[in-house]
Amino acid sequence: NNKEWQAAYSVIEQLEQAGFEAVIVGGAVRDALLDRPAHDVDVATNALPEEVKTVFQKTVDIGIQHGTVLVIVPAGPVEVTTYRTDGEYTDHRRPQNVHFVRSLKEDLQRRDFTMNAIAMRRDGSFVDYYGGQQDIEKRIIRAVGEAEKRFAEDALRMLRAIRFSAQLDFTIEANTFAAIQQRVADLGFIAKERIKAELDKLWVGQTVFGGIQKLEDSGLTAYLTGDFQTAQWHNFQTKDALLGWAYFALLQGAAWREVVRDYRLSNKEMAFINSVLTAYDALKDGWTNRHYFYYTEQELEAAQYFAQLRQLDALIPQQSIRELQAKLPIQHKQELAVNGADLLKWSGKKGGPWVKASLEDLLTAILHHELQNDRQQIKSWLEQQDLT
Ligand code: ATP
Ligand code: MG
Repeated sequence: NNKEWQAAYSVIEQLEQAGFEAVIVGGAVRDALLDRPAHDVDVATNALPEEVKTVFQKTVDIGIQHGTVLVIVPAGPVEVTTYRTDGEYTDHRRPQNVHFVRSLKEDLQRRDFTMNAIAMRRDGSFVDYYGGQQDIEKRIIRAVGEAEKRFAEDALRMLRAIRFSAQLDFTIEANTFAAIQQRVADLGFIAKERIKAELDKLWVGQTVFGGIQKLEDSGLTAYLTGDFQTAQWHNFQTKDALLGWAYFALLQGAAWREVVRDYRLSNKEMAFINSVLTAYDALKDGWTNRHYFYYTEQELEAAQYFAQLRQLDALIPQQSIRELQAKLPIQHKQELAVNGADLLKWSGKKGGPWVKASLEDLLTAILHHELQNDRQQIKSWLEQQDLT
C-alpha cells in the first residue's frame, strides 16, 4: 500500500523475473502483522550481491561485506540483503565473517527473535519456521533457538529484547528473560553508540516504565551508565527520544552531564537538556516573563511535563506557554529600541562588561512591564538608574 512496500514489491518482482527468490523480512513483516506502520521494508534474496547488482540499473554498495546492496527503483530505495548465516562470534558483538547461502530457512535462523524471523512473499504468504506469527499473536518476544547462546553471541540482543518489549508492549518469554539474566555482564562488550540507539527507541516506546522495569529486573541496569530510578518512569510517554534523555538526565542530579555524555549525546542535545533542567529548577520559584523570553516553548513544555510526572502540578502555570510567550512585550533582543552603541553615546563612558549588563537590566525591566521599549523612556530610565 505505501510507497516503501511498493518499492520492495517491485524489487522482488524484478529479482524473480531474473530467476531469483526474494522476500520481505524483519521489522516490516512484524509491523504489518501488528498493523503498525513500517519504516524500513527490507528485502532478502538468494541472489548474491554481485547478482543483485546485475539485475538493477541503479545500486549503491552500502554493506557489501554483509551482503547488503541498496537498490534504487522509481518508488524509492530498498535494502536488499543476500541470505546469509553468521560465522563464529568471538567478541560478543558480531560474527567474524558471514557466509552467503541459498536457503531462506538458514537466513531466518540467524535472526534474533521469532517475531523478527518471519518472511513474506510477494503473494502475501508467510514463511515462518519459528512460530513468529503465534508469538506476535500472544505478544511475546522469544529468542530464535537457544536463548542463552544467542545472547552470548551478540550481547546487544538483550537490550533489543527489552527495547522491543517497551516499544510494542510485549512480554519477554520466561526462558528468554532468564537467559538475559545469565548474560547481563556481556553488555560491557557493546559500544555506547549502539546502546544509545536502543535507548532512543525505548524512550519513545508504548511502555517506557515496563522497559525500565525489565532493565532493572534482568540486572542490565548494573551494566548501564547512570541511575535509572525505575519508579520515576511511571506514565512516561513521548514521541521525542531527546525528551527521554532529558528526563533520564533529571534523575541523575548533579552528575547528569557525565552520565549523559557517556552515551555520546551531541553538544546540541546537551544544550537542550541543560535548558530543560534549568527551566525545571526555576519552576520551584515560578516562571516569570524572563523565563518565557529566554527558553523555547519546547524546552518549557518539557520542564512542565517533568513537573507533572513528578506530581508537582501545583507549580505549573495555568495559561498555555505559547500564549504567555505571545504576550511578551518583546520577543527577540533585536527588537530592543536601543543598542550598546546608544548606551556608550549617552553615558560617555568607556565600553566594558557594564554595557551587556545594562542591556540585560533594561530588557528585564521591559519584560516585567516596568519600562516601555521606547528610546526616550529607556534613556531617562538609564539616567535615573545612574543617579541611584
Ligand atoms: P525496528 O522497527 O526497530 O527497525 P527491526 O526489526 O527492523 O526493528 P532492525 O535493527 O532494523 O530491527 O533489523 C532488521 C532485522 O534484522 C530484524 O528484524 C532482525 O531480523 C535482524 N536483526 C537485527 N539486529 C539483529 C541482531 N543483533 N541479531 C540478530 N538479528 C538481528
Ligand atoms: Mg528496521
